[in-house]
Amino acid sequence: MEQKSYRPAWIEINLSAIQANIHQLNRRLSSTTKIFAVVKANGYGHGDIQVAKAAIEAGASALAVALMDEAVRLREAGITVPILVLGWVSPEYIPIAIKHNIMLTVFQKEWLTAAKQIDFTGELKIHIKLDTGMGRLGMRTEQEIYEFMNELDQERFRITGLFTHFATADEAEESYYRQQSDRFEQLAQVVRSQYAEPIQLHTGNSAASIRFPDQMLDYVRFGIGMYGLYPSLYMEKTRPFPLQPALSLHAKIIHVKKIAPGSKLSYGATYTAEKEEWIGTIPLGYADGIQRKWQGLDVLIDGKRMPLVGRICMDQCMVKLDQPYPVGTQVTFVGKQKNEQITLEEIAHQLETINYEIACLFTNRIPRYYH
Ligand SMILES: *Cc1c(COP(=O)(O)O)cnc(C)c1O
Repeated sequence: MEQKSYRPAWIEINLSAIQANIHQLNRRLSSTTKIFAVVKANGYGHGDIQVAKAAIEAGASALAVALMDEAVRLREAGITVPILVLGWVSPEYIPIAIKHNIMLTVFQKEWLTAAKQIDFTGELKIHIKLDTGMGRLGMRTEQEIYEFMNELDQERFRITGLFTHFATADEAEESYYRQQSDRFEQLAQVVRSQYAEPIQLHTGNSAASIRFPDQMLDYVRFGIGMYGLYPSLYMEKTRPFPLQPALSLHAKIIHVKKIAPGSKLSYGATYTAEKEEWIGTIPLGYADGIQRKWQGLDVLIDGKRMPLVGRICMDQCMVKLDQPYPVGTQVTFVGKQKNEQITLEEIAHQLETINYEIACLFTNRIPRYYH
Protein backbone atom coordinates (compact mmCIF):
# COMPACT_ATOMS: atom_id res chain seq x y z
CA MET A 1 0.00 0.00 0.00
CA GLU A 2 2.99 2.28 -0.42
CA GLN A 3 2.32 5.55 -2.14
CA LYS A 4 4.13 6.09 -5.42
CA SER A 5 5.98 9.36 -5.21
CA TYR A 6 8.68 11.21 -7.07
CA ARG A 7 9.41 13.61 -4.23
CA PRO A 8 12.69 13.80 -2.36
CA ALA A 9 10.65 14.46 0.79
CA TRP A 10 8.83 11.87 2.85
CA ILE A 11 7.34 10.80 6.16
CA GLU A 12 8.40 7.49 7.70
CA ILE A 13 5.98 5.76 10.01
CA ASN A 14 7.36 3.13 12.33
CA LEU A 15 4.38 0.84 12.83
CA SER A 16 6.22 -1.22 15.44
CA ALA A 17 6.47 1.90 17.61
CA ILE A 18 2.69 2.21 17.42
CA GLN A 19 2.35 -1.44 18.37
CA ALA A 20 4.84 -1.07 21.24
CA ASN A 21 2.84 1.88 22.62
CA ILE A 22 -0.33 -0.21 22.55
CA HIS A 23 1.43 -3.12 24.27
CA GLN A 24 2.77 -0.78 26.95
CA LEU A 25 -0.69 0.55 27.70
CA ASN A 26 -2.35 -2.87 27.52
CA ARG A 27 0.06 -4.22 30.11
CA ARG A 28 -1.06 -1.54 32.57
CA LEU A 29 -4.79 -1.65 31.92
CA SER A 30 -6.93 -4.14 33.76
CA SER A 31 -7.52 -7.28 31.70
CA THR A 32 -11.17 -6.31 31.15
CA THR A 33 -10.40 -2.88 29.66
CA LYS A 34 -10.23 -2.86 25.88
CA ILE A 35 -8.77 -0.27 23.50
CA PHE A 36 -10.34 1.92 20.85
CA ALA A 37 -7.47 3.00 18.61
CA VAL A 38 -8.32 6.60 17.65
CA VAL A 39 -7.45 7.09 13.98
CA LYS A 40 -9.37 10.25 13.12
CA ALA A 41 -7.79 12.94 10.94
CA ASN A 42 -5.91 10.38 8.85
CA GLY A 43 -4.51 8.80 12.01
CA TYR A 44 -3.29 12.15 13.37
CA GLY A 45 -1.44 12.59 10.07
CA HIS A 46 0.18 9.15 10.28
CA GLY A 47 -2.16 7.34 7.86
CA ASP A 48 -5.49 5.97 9.10
CA ILE A 49 -5.67 2.60 7.36
CA GLN A 50 -2.08 1.54 8.02
CA VAL A 51 -2.24 2.65 11.66
CA ALA A 52 -5.62 0.96 12.14
CA LYS A 53 -4.33 -2.36 10.82
CA ALA A 54 -1.18 -2.21 12.95
CA ALA A 55 -3.20 -1.24 16.03
CA ILE A 56 -5.64 -4.12 15.58
CA GLU A 57 -2.74 -6.53 15.16
CA ALA A 58 -1.26 -5.20 18.41
CA GLY A 59 -4.45 -5.80 20.36
CA ALA A 60 -6.77 -2.81 19.83
CA SER A 61 -10.34 -4.16 19.76
CA ALA A 62 -12.04 -1.31 17.96
CA LEU A 63 -11.47 1.98 16.14
CA ALA A 64 -12.75 5.49 16.76
CA VAL A 65 -12.90 8.35 14.26
CA ALA A 66 -14.43 11.81 14.21
CA LEU A 67 -16.40 11.60 10.97
CA MET A 68 -18.61 9.15 9.16
CA ASP A 69 -16.44 9.68 6.06
CA GLU A 70 -13.44 8.42 8.00
CA ALA A 71 -15.35 5.36 9.20
CA VAL A 72 -16.56 4.46 5.70
CA ARG A 73 -13.01 4.78 4.38
CA LEU A 74 -11.82 2.21 6.93
CA ARG A 75 -14.63 -0.19 6.03
CA GLU A 76 -13.85 0.20 2.34
CA ALA A 77 -10.27 -0.78 3.15
CA GLY A 78 -11.62 -4.08 4.45
CA ILE A 79 -11.38 -3.40 8.18
CA THR A 80 -14.01 -5.35 10.11
CA VAL A 81 -13.55 -4.47 13.82
CA PRO A 82 -16.19 -2.23 15.50
CA ILE A 83 -15.89 1.45 14.49
CA LEU A 84 -17.35 4.33 16.47
CA VAL A 85 -17.86 7.82 15.06
CA LEU A 86 -17.19 10.23 17.95
CA GLY A 87 -18.68 13.31 16.29
CA TRP A 88 -22.23 14.27 15.29
CA VAL A 89 -23.67 12.57 12.23
CA SER A 90 -26.94 13.65 10.63
CA PRO A 91 -29.75 11.10 11.15
CA GLU A 92 -30.26 11.00 7.38
CA TYR A 93 -27.10 8.85 7.17
CA ILE A 94 -28.37 6.11 9.50
CA PRO A 95 -28.83 3.72 6.54
CA ILE A 96 -25.15 4.22 5.59
CA ALA A 97 -24.06 3.56 9.17
CA ILE A 98 -26.11 0.35 9.25
CA LYS A 99 -24.87 -0.75 5.85
CA HIS A 100 -21.24 -0.44 7.01
CA ASN A 101 -21.89 -1.56 10.59
CA ILE A 102 -20.68 1.75 12.00
CA MET A 103 -21.65 2.88 15.51
CA LEU A 104 -22.80 6.47 15.93
CA THR A 105 -22.56 8.86 18.87
CA VAL A 106 -25.97 10.20 19.89
CA PHE A 107 -26.96 12.64 22.63
CA GLN A 108 -29.95 14.67 21.44
CA LYS A 109 -33.61 13.83 21.90
CA GLU A 110 -34.30 15.81 18.71
CA TRP A 111 -31.93 13.54 16.82
CA LEU A 112 -34.00 10.54 17.87
CA THR A 113 -37.18 12.32 16.81
CA ALA A 114 -35.71 13.14 13.41
CA ALA A 115 -34.45 9.56 13.10
CA LYS A 116 -38.04 8.31 13.34
CA GLN A 117 -38.68 9.90 9.94
CA ILE A 118 -35.81 7.99 8.34
CA ASP A 119 -36.60 4.82 6.50
CA PHE A 120 -34.18 2.06 7.43
CA THR A 121 -34.12 -1.63 8.14
CA GLY A 122 -31.98 -3.23 10.79
CA GLU A 123 -30.76 -1.89 14.09
CA LEU A 124 -28.39 1.01 14.65
CA LYS A 125 -25.78 0.63 17.39
CA ILE A 126 -25.27 3.87 19.27
CA HIS A 127 -22.99 5.18 21.98
CA ILE A 128 -24.52 7.85 24.17
CA LYS A 129 -22.36 10.84 24.97
CA LEU A 130 -22.50 12.60 28.30
CA ASP A 131 -21.07 16.06 28.88
CA THR A 132 -19.50 15.96 32.32
CA GLY A 133 -17.47 19.13 31.96
CA MET A 134 -15.91 19.34 28.51
CA GLY A 135 -18.81 21.48 27.27
CA ARG A 136 -18.59 20.19 23.72
CA LEU A 137 -21.02 17.33 23.01
CA GLY A 138 -23.30 15.31 25.25
CA MET A 139 -26.19 15.38 27.68
CA ARG A 140 -25.53 17.30 30.86
CA THR A 141 -28.50 16.63 33.12
CA GLU A 142 -30.65 13.80 34.50
CA GLN A 143 -33.69 15.47 32.95
CA GLU A 144 -32.15 15.39 29.47
CA ILE A 145 -31.37 11.72 29.91
CA TYR A 146 -34.92 10.84 30.97
CA GLU A 147 -36.36 12.68 27.99
CA PHE A 148 -33.83 11.09 25.63
CA MET A 149 -34.58 7.59 26.92
CA ASN A 150 -38.31 8.22 26.52
CA GLU A 151 -37.80 9.18 22.91
CA LEU A 152 -35.56 6.17 22.15
CA ASP A 153 -37.12 3.53 19.92
CA GLN A 154 -35.60 0.42 21.47
CA GLU A 155 -36.60 -1.72 18.50
CA ARG A 156 -34.38 0.17 16.09
CA PHE A 157 -31.61 1.54 18.26
CA ARG A 158 -29.36 -0.46 20.51
CA ILE A 159 -27.27 1.39 23.08
CA THR A 160 -23.94 -0.39 23.10
CA GLY A 161 -21.86 2.29 24.76
CA LEU A 162 -21.92 5.28 27.05
CA PHE A 163 -19.06 7.73 27.29
CA THR A 164 -17.68 11.11 28.22
CA HIS A 165 -14.54 13.08 27.44
CA PHE A 166 -12.11 14.67 29.90
CA ALA A 167 -11.00 18.29 29.58
CA THR A 168 -7.96 18.23 31.89
CA ALA A 169 -6.75 14.63 32.29
CA ASP A 170 -3.30 15.72 31.05
CA GLU A 171 -2.79 18.35 33.77
CA ALA A 172 -1.08 18.06 37.14
CA GLU A 173 -4.16 19.27 38.99
CA GLU A 174 -6.52 16.29 39.22
CA SER A 175 -9.62 17.78 40.83
CA TYR A 176 -11.52 18.64 37.63
CA TYR A 177 -10.74 15.18 36.26
CA ARG A 178 -12.15 13.64 39.46
CA GLN A 179 -15.26 15.82 39.27
CA GLN A 180 -15.87 14.66 35.71
CA SER A 181 -15.33 10.99 36.66
CA ASP A 182 -17.79 11.30 39.55
CA ARG A 183 -20.36 13.07 37.43
CA PHE A 184 -20.04 10.36 34.78
CA GLU A 185 -20.70 7.69 37.39
CA GLN A 186 -23.85 9.52 38.56
CA LEU A 187 -25.24 10.06 35.09
CA ALA A 188 -24.33 6.53 33.98
CA GLN A 189 -26.53 5.21 36.81
CA VAL A 190 -29.43 7.21 35.41
CA VAL A 191 -28.95 5.79 31.91
CA ARG A 192 -28.65 2.28 33.26
CA SER A 193 -31.80 2.67 35.34
CA GLN A 194 -33.62 3.30 32.05
CA TYR A 195 -32.12 0.49 29.99
CA ALA A 196 -32.09 -3.23 30.63
CA GLU A 197 -29.28 -4.37 28.31
CA PRO A 198 -25.58 -4.19 29.23
CA ILE A 199 -23.80 -1.00 28.14
CA GLN A 200 -20.04 -0.60 27.70
CA LEU A 201 -18.61 2.43 29.45
CA HIS A 202 -15.62 4.49 28.40
CA THR A 203 -14.12 7.72 29.62
CA GLY A 204 -10.35 7.72 29.19
CA ASN A 205 -8.38 9.39 26.44
CA SER A 206 -4.60 8.88 26.23
CA ALA A 207 -3.88 11.11 29.20
CA ALA A 208 -6.32 9.40 31.56
CA SER A 209 -5.48 5.88 30.40
CA ILE A 210 -1.74 6.41 30.73
CA ARG A 211 -1.96 8.09 34.14
CA PHE A 212 -4.83 6.23 35.74
CA PRO A 213 -4.96 2.81 34.03
CA ASP A 214 -6.65 1.15 37.00
CA GLN A 215 -9.53 3.67 36.88
CA MET A 216 -10.44 2.90 33.29
CA LEU A 217 -13.74 1.21 32.45
CA ASP A 218 -14.70 -1.17 29.60
CA TYR A 219 -12.76 0.75 26.96
CA VAL A 220 -10.22 3.54 26.60
CA ARG A 221 -9.91 5.79 23.58
CA PHE A 222 -6.21 5.83 22.86
CA GLY A 223 -5.13 8.53 20.42
CA ILE A 224 -2.03 10.67 20.77
CA GLY A 225 -0.22 8.21 23.05
CA MET A 226 -0.56 5.44 20.47
CA TYR A 227 1.46 7.59 18.07
CA GLY A 228 4.16 7.87 20.74
CA LEU A 229 3.37 11.49 21.56
CA TYR A 230 2.66 12.96 24.97
CA PRO A 231 -0.74 14.57 25.56
CA SER A 232 0.83 17.58 27.32
CA LEU A 233 4.08 19.13 28.42
CA TYR A 234 3.28 18.05 31.97
CA MET A 235 3.02 14.42 30.87
CA GLU A 236 6.14 14.66 28.77
CA LYS A 237 8.00 15.76 31.89
CA THR A 238 6.48 13.21 34.26
CA ARG A 239 6.47 10.33 31.74
CA PRO A 240 4.31 7.70 33.47
CA PHE A 241 5.85 5.33 30.90
CA PRO A 242 8.06 5.91 27.89
CA LEU A 243 6.35 6.30 24.54
CA GLN A 244 7.99 5.68 21.19
CA PRO A 245 7.24 8.30 18.52
CA ALA A 246 6.23 6.69 15.23
CA LEU A 247 6.57 9.61 12.82
CA SER A 248 9.67 11.11 11.31
CA LEU A 249 9.87 13.65 8.50
CA HIS A 250 12.77 13.93 6.08
CA ALA A 251 13.80 15.49 2.80
CA LYS A 252 16.88 15.74 0.64
CA ILE A 253 18.75 18.94 -0.08
CA ILE A 254 18.07 19.77 -3.73
CA HIS A 255 20.36 22.77 -4.18
CA VAL A 256 23.43 24.17 -2.42
CA LYS A 257 25.16 27.50 -2.90
CA LYS A 258 27.53 29.95 -1.28
CA ILE A 259 26.14 33.45 -0.79
CA ALA A 260 28.12 36.64 -0.23
CA PRO A 261 27.81 38.87 2.85
CA GLY A 262 24.75 41.12 2.48
CA SER A 263 22.94 38.65 0.18
CA LYS A 264 19.24 38.27 0.85
CA LEU A 265 16.98 35.23 0.89
CA SER A 266 13.38 34.30 0.05
CA TYR A 267 10.16 36.32 -0.19
CA GLY A 268 10.39 39.77 1.30
CA ALA A 269 14.19 39.47 1.25
CA THR A 270 13.98 39.51 5.03
CA TYR A 271 17.08 37.42 5.68
CA THR A 272 20.48 38.96 5.12
CA ALA A 273 23.70 36.94 5.26
CA GLU A 274 26.14 38.46 7.74
CA LYS A 275 29.16 36.80 6.22
CA GLU A 276 29.79 34.31 3.47
CA GLU A 277 27.28 31.52 4.06
CA TRP A 278 26.37 28.11 2.65
CA ILE A 279 22.65 27.78 1.98
CA GLY A 280 20.72 24.64 1.13
CA THR A 281 17.28 24.49 -0.48
CA ILE A 282 14.82 21.86 0.78
CA PRO A 283 11.69 20.75 -1.11
CA LEU A 284 9.17 21.14 1.74
CA GLY A 285 6.96 24.15 2.40
CA TYR A 286 3.77 25.40 3.96
CA ALA A 287 1.63 23.41 1.51
CA ASP A 288 3.11 20.34 3.22
CA GLY A 289 2.34 21.62 6.72
CA ILE A 290 5.70 23.27 7.34
CA GLN A 291 4.00 26.49 8.27
CA ARG A 292 5.64 29.88 7.83
CA LYS A 293 6.05 30.00 11.59
CA TRP A 294 8.73 27.30 11.27
CA GLN A 295 11.17 29.97 10.09
CA GLY A 296 14.08 29.95 12.53
CA LEU A 297 13.49 26.39 13.75
CA ASP A 298 16.26 23.79 13.48
CA VAL A 299 16.51 20.78 11.20
CA LEU A 300 19.13 18.02 11.39
CA ILE A 301 21.84 17.52 8.81
CA ASP A 302 24.80 15.22 9.37
CA GLY A 303 23.61 14.82 12.99
CA LYS A 304 23.85 18.56 13.64
CA ARG A 305 21.23 21.26 14.16
CA MET A 306 20.97 23.96 11.50
CA PRO A 307 18.36 26.74 11.25
CA LEU A 308 15.71 27.33 8.58
CA VAL A 309 16.40 30.83 7.26
CA GLY A 310 14.27 33.28 5.29
CA ARG A 311 10.56 32.91 4.75
CA ILE A 312 9.15 29.41 4.25
CA CYS A 313 7.68 29.15 0.73
CA MET A 314 4.75 27.02 -0.43
CA ASP A 315 6.91 24.14 -1.67
CA GLN A 316 10.41 24.91 -0.45
CA CYS A 317 12.49 26.41 2.31
CA MET A 318 16.13 27.26 2.95
CA VAL A 319 18.57 26.10 5.59
CA LYS A 320 21.83 27.69 6.70
CA LEU A 321 24.55 25.05 6.43
CA ASP A 322 27.75 24.84 8.47
CA GLN A 323 29.66 23.68 5.37
CA PRO A 324 28.85 22.65 1.79
CA TYR A 325 26.92 19.37 1.58
CA PRO A 326 26.20 17.52 -1.66
CA VAL A 327 22.76 17.68 -3.25
CA GLY A 328 20.89 14.64 -1.97
CA THR A 329 22.05 15.00 1.64
CA GLN A 330 19.30 14.00 4.06
CA VAL A 331 17.59 16.65 6.16
CA THR A 332 15.47 15.60 9.14
CA PHE A 333 12.67 17.90 10.30
CA VAL A 334 11.26 15.46 12.85
CA GLY A 335 13.19 12.48 14.15
CA LYS A 336 16.74 11.39 14.92
CA GLN A 337 20.10 11.77 13.27
CA LYS A 338 23.11 10.37 15.13
CA ASN A 339 22.85 11.70 18.71
CA GLU A 340 20.49 14.56 17.91
CA GLN A 341 16.72 14.42 17.90
CA ILE A 342 13.93 16.85 17.06
CA THR A 343 10.58 15.84 18.51
CA LEU A 344 7.10 17.04 17.60
CA GLU A 345 6.91 18.20 21.22
CA GLU A 346 9.93 20.48 20.73
CA ILE A 347 8.43 21.96 17.57
CA ALA A 348 5.02 22.41 19.20
CA HIS A 349 6.62 24.13 22.14
CA GLN A 350 8.50 26.55 19.90
CA LEU A 351 5.42 27.29 17.82
CA GLU A 352 3.29 27.71 20.97
CA THR A 353 0.91 24.94 20.04
CA ILE A 354 0.53 21.20 20.71
CA ASN A 355 2.09 18.18 19.01
CA TYR A 356 -1.40 17.02 17.89
CA GLU A 357 -1.74 20.08 15.69
CA ILE A 358 1.68 19.80 14.07
CA ALA A 359 1.13 16.12 13.16
CA CYS A 360 -2.36 16.76 11.74
CA LEU A 361 -1.08 19.57 9.55
CA PHE A 362 1.32 17.38 7.54
CA THR A 363 -0.62 17.16 4.31
CA ASN A 364 -1.19 14.23 2.00
CA ARG A 365 1.22 15.75 -0.47
CA ILE A 366 4.03 14.22 1.58
CA PRO A 367 4.29 10.49 0.81
CA ARG A 368 4.18 8.19 3.86
CA TYR A 369 6.35 5.09 3.97
CA TYR A 370 5.63 2.37 6.50
CA HIS A 371 7.96 -0.06 8.19
C1 LIG B 1 -9.68 12.67 19.78
C2 LIG B 1 -10.46 12.06 20.88
C3 LIG B 1 -9.86 11.11 21.72
C4 LIG B 1 -8.40 10.79 21.71
O1 LIG B 1 -7.70 11.73 22.49
P1 LIG B 1 -6.14 11.62 22.73
O2 LIG B 1 -5.82 12.72 23.65
O3 LIG B 1 -5.51 11.78 21.39
O4 LIG B 1 -5.90 10.26 23.28
C5 LIG B 1 -10.68 10.49 22.64
N1 LIG B 1 -11.99 10.79 22.74
C6 LIG B 1 -12.59 11.72 21.97
C7 LIG B 1 -14.04 12.00 22.13
C8 LIG B 1 -11.84 12.38 21.02
O5 LIG B 1 -12.44 13.31 20.25
